[in-house]
Amino acid sequence: MSKKVSIIGGGIIGLCSAYYLAKEGLEVTVFDKTDMTDGCSYGNAGMIVPSHVIPLAQPGMIAQGIKWMFNSQSPFYVKPRLSSDLLKWGWQFYKHANQKHVEKAMPALRDLSLLSKELYQEFARQDNSFFYEEKGLLMLFKTDKVAAEMHHEGKLAEDLGLGVRYLSKEEVTKLETGTTTDVIGGVHYTSDAHLYPQKFMQFLKQELAELGVNIYGNTEVKGFTIQNGLVTAVETNKGSFVTNEVVLATGSWSPEIAKKLQENISLLPGKGYSFTLKNKKAKPNIPSILCEGKVAVTPMANDIRFGGTMEITHNQDTSININRVKGIVNTINYFYPDLQIAMPKKEETWFGFRPCTPSGMPIIKKSQKLSNLTIAIGHAMMGLSLAPATGKLVSELLLGKSTSVPTKMFQ
Ligand SMILES: Cc1cc2nc3c(=O)[nH]c(=O)nc-3n(C[C@H](O)[C@H](O)[C@H](O)COP(=O)(O)OP(=O)(O)OC[C@H]3O[C@@H](n4cnc5c(N)ncnc54)[C@H](O)[C@@H]3O)c2cc1C
Repeated sequence: MSKKVSIIGGGIIGLCSAYYLAKEGLEVTVFDKTDMTDGCSYGNAGMIVPSHVIPLAQPGMIAQGIKWMFNSQSPFYVKPRLSSDLLKWGWQFYKHANQKHVEKAMPALRDLSLLSKELYQEFARQDNSFFYEEKGLLMLFKTDKVAAEMHHEGKLAEDLGLGVRYLSKEEVTKLETGTTTDVIGGVHYTSDAHLYPQKFMQFLKQELAELGVNIYGNTEVKGFTIQNGLVTAVETNKGSFVTNEVVLATGSWSPEIAKKLQENISLLPGKGYSFTLKNKKAKPNIPSILCEGKVAVTPMANDIRFGGTMEITHNQDTSININRVKGIVNTINYFYPDLQIAMPKKEETWFGFRPCTPSGMPIIKKSQKLSNLTIAIGHAMMGLSLAPATGKLVSELLLGKSTSVPTKMFQ
């Protein structure tokens, strides 16, 4: 009889894990407390970014973050509150925001990301219903200061073997023919790709259905039965489910549920916003980041999505901060003068919680305490990018196989 695997969390990390485990012939069940039609894995910017090798915890981030905290339209914000979780997270972040950490993180993230891209290519060859495209990613800037930072980051990516082109203003104009770009130049990461996240989630669900994976939406996992160092059952609001293995993929909600699995995890949600203009005719053709405002721009089939801001907050903070959405809109109109985007209505503005660890690194590992528990959380702003590779690693770790890429940095 094949092993019963219970995956807690049906976001992109949970579903990719389910895919690779089911492919190995295991009996997989996914539990999610929502109806699995929305959440962080749906409204994100859809970028697959091997170029993003520098984790959020990096030198200079704390000083920059403090400066931004006094600007209500800024792209990064830590919501101040008296909370031991926030203090612990902040202290850990401070300890990781150094060059040594970045140097160790970069090759690990590159390898995970390139593996993911290969796996996305495989999916796309099978059925590209999710509009996977390889146009690279343009980092666009308007100031000499940011140009120097972007050139420096480009050099780091180049040293790691990634495709990088440094573009003048004229070269940007030649490449981006969809609309006028008012910039002084750009860095083009040619190894990057993008897709339509909602369509990819739909594709995954279809694949899982064909593989016979059981998916329980609207089913909240409340606890576990643990006997002799093993999780033997998953306790939900719909009853108890016997299990042989558990995968924790609960995104921003992980710390609380992890405690029930004897794991102490520091992780906070990084709230971000996006809005999508449907069937927009004149629009940028190349996925871009408008660097001074940290706004992501992604063409997705006939639509275009704009996303941005990172508010380190808590899971009950479901409000839409209109000032920050204004910051996104102002940045778009400043970089693309011909687009002149209007403020989206509140109900047209999507938000999602990025699961952020203080090291800026995902956690992909076997638990030290419960031998049948595998953890896959904390992918912050790179969860879509890293999901297929994470799913593959989860299946390899769970089955005790050697892993496709080293996992030492994902502890
Ligand atoms: C504005 C924005 C833009 C982004 N752009 C990009 C991008 O371009 N590229 C990229 O790579 N990443 C991007 N990201 C990040 C990416 O979206 C996330 O890293 C990714 O979606 C996280 O996936 P996840 O499966 O870990 O978490 P989630 O998608 O949050 O899934 C976790 C699931 O667990 C469920 N759950 C939690 N607790 C329980 C419980 N007790 N019982 C049952 N179910 C439970 C939740 O309901 C949820 O569905 C962006 C994020 C934002 C906000």
